[in-house]
Amino acid sequence: MNLILPQQRSRIREDITEAVGDVPIVRLRRVASVCASSRCYLKLESCNPGGSIKEKNATVLVNQAEEAGLLRPGGTIIESSSGNFGVGLAIVGAARGYRVIIVVDAKTTQAFRRMLKAYGAELAEVSEVDAAGSMQKARIALATRLTETIPGGWYPCQHYNPKNPDAHALFTAREIEDAFGEDLDALVVGISTGGQMSGLARYLKPRYPKLQLVGVDVQGSVIFDPAPAPYKMTGIGLSFRPPNLDYDAIDKAYVVPENLAYSMCHALAQREGLLLGSSTGAIVAAGLHLAQHMPPGSRIAMINPDRGDRYLETIYDLDWLKDNGFTLIPAEHMDVAIEQLCICDPVR
Ligand code: PMP
Repeated sequence: MNLILPQQRSRIREDITEAVGDVPIVRLRRVASVCASSRCYLKLESCNPGGSIKEKNATVLVNQAEEAGLLRPGGTIIESSSGNFGVGLAIVGAARGYRVIIVVDAKTTQAFRRMLKAYGAELAEVSEVDAAGSMQKARIALATRLTETIPGGWYPCQHYNPKNPDAHALFTAREIEDAFGEDLDALVVGISTGGQMSGLARYLKPRYPKLQLVGVDVQGSVIFDPAPAPYKMTGIGLSFRPPNLDYDAIDKAYVVPENLAYSMCHALAQREGLLLGSSTGAIVAAGLHLAQHMPPGSRIAMINPDRGDRYLETIYDLDWLKDNGFTLIPAEHMDVAIEQLCICDPVR
């Protein structure tokens, strides 16, 4: 394993994959009134070298595949990803000399496409839309076909691979334990494949049974709500129920409207100095709603999955917001907007 536990870290790393995982946790102060009475923290996985938490999964899965002989020198890594996992694999592939092919669709932004290509990855595109307006199933089908036809091809398959959560059980959960120990009341996590939530739950639930695990999805996705609808959000959300998600581990769930998520992103940038990805807006909105409903002084940690620079041409662009029918909620109305969220049943 190349990821390093906090107590074993040296400032000098042998390659870029060893620099993954060493990220700060910052307290939120100004984005909502409840930040004064509760302790709301954001774990900045955006500070990983490529800007996202998915570099952890990429590093651990590649290491495991090498150890199992599934990925050999000269091999090709193939994956379906709307962005961050693809970038993570492109980084590990570049550092280890593998060819990397990422299957994308129309929702993959120019920023992600350019980033993937800059790391030397190749893109394969799908265009078949399913009944829910999603291309996720078509992407998985193409990645499967490519793996069958390219000699030395290895498909980590983040949606179905039961090892996808391992990185978070082995590292993210222990980093949280190292920072907070018993002094944490709730942990708020965005969901798509379920890798983060299930890995964190696997390590933390048996050790901290009082810790509430809170899952966050976006409106239109079917993870917590069976009625699908189109949505623009990338990162969280899925058009099918994630096989890798341990639903039993989730104590509370939120389904956040996109408009509130994007408004929260702008508020985080302007009131906290944190320019973060679109899913973070949903995760923080949910975490702050939870804080409003927990006793004062409660300690709530939220996981920020990625950096905001990938979204400068989408959610941080006022024309893009207008063209897609979103109207930003002014920062001074944020308390009220957060209050309007509802906690939902995770297993509906
Ligand atoms: N937010 C962002 C920005 C992501 O890239 C992802 C991974 N798709 C998630 C949240 C959700 O993580 P997971 O797939 O582990 O559930």
